[in-house]
Amino acid sequence: MNAVIYTRVSTTEQAKHGYSLASQELECKKFAEKEGMKVVKIYREEGVSAKTTNRPQLQNLIKFCIENKKSINCIIVWKFDRFTRKLEDQIELFGKMQKYNIRILSATENNEESAIGNLVRNVIGTFAQFENDIKSERVTAGMKEAFLQGNWLWKAPIGYKMIGKKLYIDEIKGSHIKKIFEDFATGLYRQTDLLNYLKDNNIKISANTLCDLLRKPVYYGYLVNEKYSKEPIKGDFEPIVDEQTFYRVQAILNGNKAQAVPHLRQNPMFPLKQFITCPYCNQSLTGDTPHGRKGQKYYYYRCYNKDCIAHFNISKDKLENNFVEYLTKIKPDKSLLKLFKTIMNDVYNKSTEEARNSYNSFNKQLEGINNNKSKLLDLLIEEKISSDAYKMKVEQFEKAELDLKSKIAVNDIPENDFNECLEYACNVLDNLDKFWLNSKIDIKERLQKIIFPNGLRYESGVFRNSQMSSLFKIIGTLSVPSINMVPPSEFESLSTP
Ligand SMILES: [Zn+2]
Repeated sequence: MNAVIYTRVSTTEQAKHGYSLASQELECKKFAEKEGMKVVKIYREEGVSAKTTNRPQLQNLIKFCIENKKSINCIIVWKFDRFTRKLEDQIELFGKMQKYNIRILSATENNEESAIGNLVRNVIGTFAQFENDIKSERVTAGMKEAFLQGNWLWKAPIGYKMIGKKLYIDEIKGSHIKKIFEDFATGLYRQTDLLNYLKDNNIKISANTLCDLLRKPVYYGYLVNEKYSKEPIKGDFEPIVDEQTFYRVQAILNGNKAQAVPHLRQNPMFPLKQFITCPYCNQSLTGDTPHGRKGQKYYYYRCYNKDCIAHFNISKDKLENNFVEYLTKIKPDKSLLKLFKTIMNDVYNKSTEEARNSYNSFNKQLEGINNNKSKLLDLLIEEKISSDAYKMKVEQFEKAELDLKSKIAVNDIPENDFNECLEYACNVLDNLDKFWLNSKIDIKERLQKIIFPNGLRYESGVFRNSQMSSLFKIIGTLSVPSINMVPPSEFESLSTP
């Protein structure tokens, strides 16, 4: 057991009673010896005021004890009142030491039964608890206040940075986050595509983190925390994406909005890999590059199924030439395309009218909900309903409100560049073979998937498809009234016809 001794005399005491530091020290040492303790250090406070804060030696002692909390077991004083007469100070000190498992013992008083000892023991627990409660109450109240003022209270989310206590968009990372939201909102990308994009731009996060990230209202500038507020609070910082984009993303995540067929990243040498299947076993072909004897490369598509009877393979050039030829065969003829254009225009006009109508109706409903909410609040203020009833009802309204907002976000009113898009799409269809040949790998793949969602089977020079896309079916029959347009912006940005 290691002990530290603390002795103190005020100038008056020394003069009046002769409680010298030396005699205090002696009694403390005797006590330590009796208790079998080793004295490792002695602090002597001479002629200073009773205030703890003004006592340098006491401060040193506390510092020493904290620094050596593992090896110090107790502090010995001549009398408890050596520390301080002020109860708060006393309690604070005892509490602090108790936290480090350091006992404070009096050399001349009964350590178990002394009045101050008992009081301190009883009070410390309550007082410490009380202090904690007050502190956390204050912190919570402060945080709530800051939250309601739109302050971000936590670690900056990816794409943002904290400067002082304010959230700012991190220019580089923020632009990447904006890009993944906007890409995902088109419905043309999978989450793994976003992850790869982020990885390429030095933002390495897990799939789970990405999933959480896409749902965080902070990105459209709102704070949501049930603890502080039932309603989302408009943040005092710039949003990274607009509300419309955010809600589109939510709709896709919730499965309310269809995603276009996902594509796999591929070797640009083999655009038909994983798309054309083996004529013998129906497994997807993969790319292969065997080297010739003189080091020259030969490109092949090959069936790697070890159970396949044929180990089918075909040279890249042959398969791709056949494929392009096939595209020229299936592309619709010009008169059909013209008819298709006319019909699409009709469909467009009809569907925009519908979309506008439902847009107006959704907004009317939203207005209705807001009116009801404010009426409800009036009722609460007039004490005509209980706060429980209010809460319950408000929750219902809010749920309906959220539902409507997400419906509005998904309810596309096609842009006015529809005609341009249609022209473009028809141009692609008219030049399918050339378009495929001249496109980059990802456009090639997407085009293949759009035309043949289930891939193609190659059989002695002939392609067989189990299913052609609805687009081609429509052009083939021109009888289906509505069609899900895939926004062609992706094509435009990546390749020109
Ligand atoms: Zn095979």
